[in-house]
Amino acid sequence: MLGYLEARKLVLERAEPLPPRRVPLLEALGLAAAEDIRAAEPVPPFTNSAMDGFALRCGDAAPGRLPVAGTVPAGMAEVPALGPGEALRIMTGAPLPAGADAVVPIEFVREEAGWVVLSGAPRPGANIRLAGEDIPAGGLVVSAGAVLRPAEVGVLAAIGCPEVRVRPRPRVAVITTGNELVDAGDRPGPGRIRDANIHSLCAQAMAAGAIPLPRPRVEDSREAVARAVRDALDEADVVLTNGGISVGDFDFIKAVLEDHGAERVFWKVAQKPGSPLGLWVHRGKLIFGIPGNPVAAMLMFETYVRPALRRMMGYRNLHRPERTGILEAAWKRSGDPMRTEFLRVVAGPGGRAALAGPQGSGILSGMMRANALALIPEGPTALEAGAEVPLQLIDEAEDH
Ligand code: AMP
Ligand code: MG
Repeated sequence: MLGYLEARKLVLERAEPLPPRRVPLLEALGLAAAEDIRAAEPVPPFTNSAMDGFALRCGDAAPGRLPVAGTVPAGMAEVPALGPGEALRIMTGAPLPAGADAVVPIEFVREEAGWVVLSGAPRPGANIRLAGEDIPAGGLVVSAGAVLRPAEVGVLAAIGCPEVRVRPRPRVAVITTGNELVDAGDRPGPGRIRDANIHSLCAQAMAAGAIPLPRPRVEDSREAVARAVRDALDEADVVLTNGGISVGDFDFIKAVLEDHGAERVFWKVAQKPGSPLGLWVHRGKLIFGIPGNPVAAMLMFETYVRPALRRMMGYRNLHRPERTGILEAAWKRSGDPMRTEFLRVVAGPGGRAALAGPQGSGILSGMMRANALALIPEGPTALEAGAEVPLQLIDEAEDH
């Protein structure tokens, strides 16, 4: 059977970055730039005062007092030149008058009937911001693939980019299936349960930066599933079906997708939980067949869908940070040892990893407690307390 890393590789090979889109600057927050962006002009665009004070020529300061020839406010277009032996009142951000080489802050002087009295000798360049000292003209501001944070948004505004080309957020349709399911707001009758997964999967899509499209829930019939998938493909970049992907009598997803002409990339992965996971491609769009057990559903999203969405969004870092953990208690495998097992763990200081409660694939509350996954590779049937295991830190961002 296909191994976990091979399956992830197949997913990422099929997940292409989405075509770039030009969006208003604020909408670009959190998205990856689709191209290198250079500053057409220097920032600041002109040399200006860093303080409210007096612009002067340092060489003229020796007498200790200078006549004040005028005022230069911020935004002044035609700034008078500084005459010999004079000072000009100047405000923060105002263009430096020609001839001035320093600004003395207002706090350091006294003013007397049209004169400014200095308390010391200014240093050339003091309190002056040079044109281009922040960003030179032609300088690289953002490189393709960089994520736009609030600081990038501000800098792009400063260099005159009110819009920016980014990789857009993928639209992710989520279709849950199962005759046993009712809405979160309904009281389940006999034999029925609430549809938790439509919420957890849509929340994961949102948390990944994508746009979730929760679709109407589908009963276990071929026709209903076929219609739902067809409609979802019309609207979404990625489709997640949930449940009905295994070998039960009412598991129609595989057959429906293939009847619809979707190409099967794989079905079944040597892993626990989540072994019936499948990936199909239809006209370049990914369709994940995700098993219905609530923990399996979330783990499959975390392990395969999230990195795929990140690749579509043009991010450079696709995977959560990893580190080596130390199992706090002994662990014994049940079932086939030739599969990767994802344990939900709480990773603490020094990499100590304790199981986040019982590990059944229906124990959704364990996902609330876990901050990491311990990936037990194929092979060992048991691990001693103190054994080293690779951890994926699922509460930490990929891009830091
Ligand atoms: P399935 O993959 O359809 O065979 O479902 C496996 C298990 O997950 C069954 O116990 C289902 O009742 C449960 N399940 C399937 N879909 C959901 C869902 N959307 N929310 C909560 N539990 C689900
Ligand atoms: Mg089902």
